Amino acid sequence: MGNLFRTVKQIIEPQYVIEGAGVLLRRSFGPARSNLFDPFLLFDHFAFNDPREGPIMGFPTHPHRGIETVTYMLEGNVRHRDSLGNIGVIGPGDVQWMTSGRGILHEEMPRRGPSGAIMGFQLWVNLPAAQKMSQPRYQEVSAESIPSVAFPGGRLRVVAGEFNGVRGPVTEIAAQPLYMDVALEASAEFSLPVPLGHTLIAYVFEGESLFGMDDRGQGEFVPAVHMVEFNDGDLLQVQTGASGGVRFMLMAGAPFREPIYPYGPFVMNTQQEIQQALMDLRNGTFVQAN
Ligand code: MN
Repeated sequence: MGNLFRTVKQIIEPQYVIEGAGVLLRRSFGPARSNLFDPFLLFDHFAFNDPREGPIMGFPTHPHRGIETVTYMLEGNVRHRDSLGNIGVIGPGDVQWMTSGRGILHEEMPRRGPSGAIMGFQLWVNLPAAQKMSQPRYQEVSAESIPSVAFPGGRLRVVAGEFNGVRGPVTEIAAQPLYMDVALEASAEFSLPVPLGHTLIAYVFEGESLFGMDDRGQGEFVPAVHMVEFNDGDLLQVQTGASGGVRFMLMAGAPFREPIYPYGPFVMNTQQEIQQALMDLRNGTFVQAN
């Protein structure tokens, strides 16, 4: 039996959006009832690299229910504080995988690194109906505890899932995600087995490459900065040209195939559950002690 190659389904141009207290983001997609990237709901890229943008106002206290938010920083940091008493700084190479479950209130304040730049990503992952009202949970992972795997022509960091027998530190996530930061040199070939039926996307943020080669070796050229969605299959192939390499975040996950009802920072399954969330916020019962 041959492989079923993951070919390119679409290439998405990220759009600038303003969120929080006036934070400029590049958004590839956001929560929508069409749920096209199930189990993924949103992918944002923090990139404030122009000092004229001035101070960064950040994301003052806001609630989440029914989702997981995943923050991965490459440069600069995000100071974080929440209603459960957690406080911390997500710095370069660190990951925070926050499972909101039934509810948290938190603030997230991005800050420039020494060079004046910020580079980082926030991914939202859905929770299945049965876990939307679960207890909130954090997996805080420092840069040193994310394994880096070298291979001919490149290296990658495994945040969640597995590559060549190396497991990422983030575990027990309902969507069975694969989340990796992949860097390839020029003239490199990279192959990755991906479970059939899982959603597969890649965010290309440096360089350029051919993605999604089929059985005849034909792929699509994708330069930074773009989100790529792949068709179903069991093997992804990426091939860089002689002129330079590429770097991308790679995400795969098992779709839940449940109806969703997004509303701002909440993603539930029905409109009634959204109304309940708003009522809980008004009544002061949104956040519950364990
Ligand atoms: Mn948030």
